[in-house]
Amino acid sequence: MPNQPSLKDVHELTLVDPKNKKAFALKDCETRGDKLFENKKDAKASLEADALAINDLQDALFASKAGSLLIVLQGIDTSGKDGATKEAFRYTSPLGMMVQAFGKPTEEELAHDYLWRLHKVTPRRGFITVFNRSQYEDVLVVKVRQLAPAKMVEQRYEQINQWEKMLVENGTRMLKIMLHISKEEQGVRLRERLEVPQKRWKFNPSDLEDRKLWDDYQAAYETVLQRCSTSWAPWHVVPADSRTRRDAIAARLIRGELEAMKLEYPDPGYRPEQYQID
Ligand code: ADP
Repeated sequence: MPNQPSLKDVHELTLVDPKNKKAFALKDCETRGDKLFENKKDAKASLEADALAINDLQDALFASKAGSLLIVLQGIDTSGKDGATKEAFRYTSPLGMMVQAFGKPTEEELAHDYLWRLHKVTPRRGFITVFNRSQYEDVLVVKVRQLAPAKMVEQRYEQINQWEKMLVENGTRMLKIMLHISKEEQGVRLRERLEVPQKRWKFNPSDLEDRKLWDDYQAAYETVLQRCSTSWAPWHVVPADSRTRRDAIAARLIRGELEAMKLEYPDPGYRPEQYQID
């Protein structure tokens, strides 16, 4: 058995309490993660155990079709949305999962309401879907870069809360994770992208424009966390300066969500001894 923090300990560090969300401040959240995992070896072992468990749980979810899980991953550039997905689901069959990334909206998407492109790809029963960026971009980048009138953005927090409530009431469980890194660590990772040939494709000069707007993005994230951590779809802030700890904490949360679904394999509707296979 690996040396793992309990789900309660993880929640204590990461959960934005829906009852007390207005008092939430991002500056109080750590970015290192060593409070939960003092050393990397424990984080690695925990991640391995949870990734295996996530695979088993996903199998039971797929078989039972008892509901679906939507994981919303947000975080500024280089915070590790791709990495965390890859590691937590390292053993999970791709058959029952989808990863949906949301970039700049297309012309067709812009011709609809902003939730249209998201609702089309929410998970069907039995599935896990990861949103790599999400509906929250419409109150993050759109707010910071003033891509929509401020009044419209202002209305969106409550619209998103109500939309999520509808999804949850109809059988979709939601886990919302913000990967939280420091400005220093983002600098290190952006430099790495320029230096390592295999990482250069990930570099986008617009990332530097966003980095200049660091404080505005932090403020926009804080507003999201203060207004959209609800009892039906609460936010978690996961420290993301250490990749291994970040992935281990995210995997703990994902496993916890799947376990809370109390999944059971369905009754097959026959007795195995009814059949003989020659
Ligand atoms: P990533 O940075 O996630 O690896 P991309 O390089 O494709 O992926 O970047 C996606 C970009 O699309 C980000 O800069 C993000 O802010 C932007 N984006 C996502 N949703 C929206 C939106 N609704 N409106 C405008 N820009 C958006």
